[in-house]
Amino acid sequence: MSSPAYTDLYLWINGQKLSGGGRAHSAVINPFDGSTLGQMPHATADDLQAALASSEQGFKAWRAVTAWQRAAVIERAVAWLRERSAQLEELLTLEVGKPLAEARMELGLTLESMTWCAEEAKRIYGRTLEPRIPHGRMVVSREPVGPVAAFAPWNVPALLTGRKIAAALAAGCSMVIKPSEETPATCLMIAEAFAAAGLPSGVLNVVLGEPDFISRTLLASKVIRKVSFTGPEPVGRQLAKLAAENITPITMELGGHGPVIVCDDADVEAAAAASVPNKFFNAGASCIAPTRFYVQDAVYDRFVAAFVAGAKAIKLGSGFDPETRMGPLANARRLVAMERLIGDAVARGAKLETGGKRVEGDGFFWEPTVLTHVPEDADIMNHEPFGPVATISRFTELDDAIELANRLPFGLGAYAFTQSLSRAHQLADRIESGMVGINTYYFGMPEGPFGGVKQSGYGSENGTEGIDAYLVTKFVHIV
Ligand code: NAD
Repeated sequence: MSSPAYTDLYLWINGQKLSGGGRAHSAVINPFDGSTLGQMPHATADDLQAALASSEQGFKAWRAVTAWQRAAVIERAVAWLRERSAQLEELLTLEVGKPLAEARMELGLTLESMTWCAEEAKRIYGRTLEPRIPHGRMVVSREPVGPVAAFAPWNVPALLTGRKIAAALAAGCSMVIKPSEETPATCLMIAEAFAAAGLPSGVLNVVLGEPDFISRTLLASKVIRKVSFTGPEPVGRQLAKLAAENITPITMELGGHGPVIVCDDADVEAAAAASVPNKFFNAGASCIAPTRFYVQDAVYDRFVAAFVAGAKAIKLGSGFDPETRMGPLANARRLVAMERLIGDAVARGAKLETGGKRVEGDGFFWEPTVLTHVPEDADIMNHEPFGPVATISRFTELDDAIELANRLPFGLGAYAFTQSLSRAHQLADRIESGMVGINTYYFGMPEGPFGGVKQSGYGSENGTEGIDAYLVTKFVHIV
C-alpha cells in the first residue's frame, strides 16, 4: 500500500518560511516502517530571537483586533482545514502511525475545539461594580495576557496544537509554538490555515528543533507572558522552574495513570466493550488512557475474559489500511519503554494474558498486551506506560479500590463502572482526579475543562477555563 507524500518542513517566523541557510536538520521518522519522512530544520538562536520579536509586535497588533474579527479569522482557518481534511488526516497517520479513522476523529475534535474557541472569543466578559463615589465607575475587565510560548507533544498533534493556538488567539494573545520533533508537519499545516485566513504576520510563529534549547531561550525572555505545555512530567517540572524565574504563569498537562474501578453491579460486558477501544486508542499513547483496571471479585473473571478477547481481536497494520484497528507506536522510545515495563512486571510474577512482545519488522509495532496479577510495586503500576498495555487487578472492598486509584501522585483521567447511583456519587466524590468518568470514557469535548490535579499538572485547556488561562484581570476605577 503506497503512502501519501509528506510535506516540506520549515520554521514559520513573522510570516516567512525558513529552512536551509546552514541550519542543522534532523530526520522525521515514519513509525510504520522506520523510513525517513523528511528533514526538519532546527531553529538557531537568531531564529528564536526573531520569533520573540515578531510575537511581541504581533501581540500589539492582535490585541487591537475586536473579538468578532478574531473569531472570524479562527473560523476561516477552520474552514480552510475542513476543505483539506483528507490531507491533514494523512499527515497525522504518516507522522504518528494512527489509523486514518482515528486521525479523522482527532481532526473532527480539533476543528470543533477551534470553532468553540472562536465562539468563546465573543464571550470574554468583564463586569461593573457599584461605585464608592457618586458618578464614579468601577470596571473589571479581562485582557489578553500577552505573547505565549506553547509546547505540544506528538500523540495527538493536531488537537494539542490546534486548541492551544485557537484559545490563545481567541483571547487576543500571540503565540510561539514548538510542536514535537516527531510531528512538525501537522502543526505547520494548521499555521498555514491561519495565514490563509488572514492572521497578521507575527501573531503565530512556529519554531522547530532542539526542545531544551528552544524552551530555555523562549522562557528566559521577558517577551513571553504565559507558557502552555503538554507532555512528560519531568519536562513540565523543568519548564515550571524556568517559568518561575520571570514569574510567568504556566498551564501544564503532564499525563496520568488512568485507574478504572469496575464494581460488581456494573454491566461487565458493556464495561469491557467500552474499555478495549479506549485502552488501545492511539496505540495507548493518550494521557487519559485507562491503564490500571481494578475489578471486583464477583465479576473479575468475566471482565478479564471479555477484555482479553477484545485485545486479541485488534488488527494491527498500516494506518492507511481501513481494516487496521491499531497502528505502530509513534516512536522507538515507546518500544523500549514497553519492553522494560512489561519485562519488569513479568519478572515480579505478573501473568501475561496476551501480547507482551514487539512485532517483527522495521515498524514500531507492539502487540496489544494484558497483564494480570501485577504487584502494586511493579514499575508499570507506578509509571505511565503510554502504550498498548493494560493491567487488571482484583479487589474486594470498594474503599480499597478507591485507595489504590488514589495511591499515585497523578490525577488526570479516572473511571468507574457501576449501576448503583450511590456508588457513582461516592466514586465521583472520592477519586482524586481532574476528570472522572462514571460509565464513560468520553472526555475532550471543547466545553469541558481538561486538566489534572496533583503531579498531572495545573490549569485546564478547553471549557471557559481554557480561554481564561490566556487572560489577566484589570480593575479600573474612574471618578
Ligand atoms: P520526551 O521527553 O522525548 O518528549 C516528549 C515531548 O516533550 C516532545 O514533544 C518534546 O519535544 C517535548 N520536550 C522534551 N524536552 C523538552 C524541553 N526541555 N522543553 C520543551 N519541550 C520538551 O518524552 P517521550 O518519550 O516522547 O514521552 C515520554 C512520556 O511523556 C510518556 O510516557 C508520557 O508519560 C509523556 N507524554 C505525555 C503526553 C501528554 O499528553 N500529557 C504526551 C506525550 C508524552
